[in-house]
Amino acid sequence: MTEVAGGVGRVHLVPTPGRALRTGRIHSVESCGAVDGPGLRFVVFLQGCPLRCRYCHNPDTWDPRGGTEVTVGSLVEEIRKYIPYMKFSGGGVTVSGGEPLLQPDFVAALFAECRQLGIHTALDSSGFAPAERAERVLAQTDLLLLDIKQPNLLRHKALTGVDGRRPRTTARLAAAMGIPMWIRYVVVPGWTDDPADVEALADLVLTLPTVEKVELLPYHLLGKHKWEALGISYQLEGVLPPPATTMERIRKQLTDRGIRVG
Ligand code: SF4
Repeated sequence: MTEVAGGVGRVHLVPTPGRALRTGRIHSVESCGAVDGPGLRFVVFLQGCPLRCRYCHNPDTWDPRGGTEVTVGSLVEEIRKYIPYMKFSGGGVTVSGGEPLLQPDFVAALFAECRQLGIHTALDSSGFAPAERAERVLAQTDLLLLDIKQPNLLRHKALTGVDGRRPRTTARLAAAMGIPMWIRYVVVPGWTDDPADVEALADLVLTLPTVEKVELLPYHLLGKHKWEALGISYQLEGVLPPPATTMERIRKQLTDRGIRVG
């Protein structure tokens, strides 16, 4: 891999031969997504996730051996069909999961191909990956949609099963590379809606100069049936979606700190 100085941060030039042949495992695609980044987006959901978020609505993406194996080239051929919609709407390609950083070479190669076609690239990630792995993908990423699960490290572990320090390292890395970020925060009653947690989220966000906004996502029950179908017991039994008053209270707490919420 060649590394050159360029624009903002660093640019990694991945050798072209073989790049299109690189394979990855995907769960599914959505050709015209409207909620995972700006404009209309071709969203690729990757297979495999090391986290076990209690509110996960896609537990069928967890197993890294599941899903379908595809090549970067075949995916790009599919993506090409939607370029007019992307260009018209200011959209692009978003890679989500599962956790995309589990397949860094595949995502980096896909994003590199997209960029050659002038397509905007967005990474929707928990940020849970070793720094060198995250850096390889971030070098090809135009926008990071970073899911901060829980800013309190102890509560992060209880909510997701994994250590919360890696996502912070990824966030700092993205900021240092000059990559715009949208922070996503799922509001779960009793798990992430404590004012102290929201204050800690604001503290964290204000250390990251490339954050453009925070998106507050209310917890919902739409994925519960998938847990049942997989034969695993649901981890938030009895927890209901947050009321509008909670969402508004958290929104205000963040905007009072000068953070854009949208
Ligand atoms: S990171 Fe996403 S896919 Fe993985 S467990 Fe959490 S919510 Fe589910």
